Amino acid sequence: METLILKGKPVSCKIKEDIASKITNLSSEGIVPSLAVIIVGNNPASKLYVNSKAKTFKSLNCYSEIFEFSSDITQVELLNHIDFLNQEDKFHGILVQLPLPKHLNETQVLEKIIPIKDVDGFHPQNQGYIMQGTPKFIPCTPLGCLEILKYYDIDTKGKNIVVVGRSNIVGKPMASLLSQNLDYGNATVTLCHTKTSDLVSFTSKADIIIAAVGVAELINGSMIKKGAHIIDVGINRVKDITIDKGYKVVGDVDFDDVLGKAASITPVPGGVGVMTVTMLLSNTVQAAINQNK
Ligand code: NAP
Repeated sequence: METLILKGKPVSCKIKEDIASKITNLSSEGIVPSLAVIIVGNNPASKLYVNSKAKTFKSLNCYSEIFEFSSDITQVELLNHIDFLNQEDKFHGILVQLPLPKHLNETQVLEKIIPIKDVDGFHPQNQGYIMQGTPKFIPCTPLGCLEILKYYDIDTKGKNIVVVGRSNIVGKPMASLLSQNLDYGNATVTLCHTKTSDLVSFTSKADIIIAAVGVAELINGSMIKKGAHIIDVGINRVKDITIDKGYKVVGDVDFDDVLGKAASITPVPGGVGVMTVTMLLSNTVQAAINQNK
């Protein structure tokens, strides 16, 4: 069986095309979709993500501003700043780059963002709407996975889908969305995690596997059914002395091992990762539309 490689780039380009017309309409009314990004501390990976977000926004004539705070900021100071941004009409979306330093209460920080500006979809109210089947803002990574399934016409209705990983930002919203009576839902979903006994007994029956685990190449060819579709969310660095930088990036699925057995798979890098920033832009544009109705 030839395995189709589900690249993120064409999906992202198509979505950017769709968003461009919305941005033009907003701009004719003098509105520029704008995102406030809060970053705390000096985490190089976080800075890299934040800069890539800024670049994408700029390329589509949207605005993003980075608010940098030192790692000794107090909880109260951070909450006060979010309050300021909640009230600042200029910003349609607010994002707090995670992880935060250990002394800060992440849950409280995310809850402080007003839900209409919660373009990351992490606020409990937005997560609740997903659970109810009436999503408002969907977290960017699961939203990107849905867009990939749609673009490549991988039907989910009536399918057995196994989501591996139950984080609030990927696994749980993904499992919830896929099980709802919505377009690109209506699947029978099993949510697996570290306490799942005999993971392979679930993955081997799945028509579609969504891997969001954070363990390099956990899922291999012997664990999947022939013809399964695989969305690999994982981004893991593994040592590779044959490469100058000394490491390579791999997913949660052993890509080479599933080739020829899977019907399709997203590559890492070049799959889901490409989608995440695009979906952030999409959510921010939607927030700008909602706030100017
Ligand atoms: P996370 O918060 O660390 O959650 C990982 C989940 O995987 C947990 O629910 C954990 O179970 C489960 N898990 C870990 N080892 C397992 C095993 N051996 N068998 C079964 N389940 C296992 O991670 P996350 O934030 O969801 O991210 C997951 C991966 O996606 C990471 O590689 C991350 O870098 C990547 N990611 C990529 C993007 C993107 O844009 N492409 C965005 C976000 C995340 P327990 O709950 O039992 O601990």
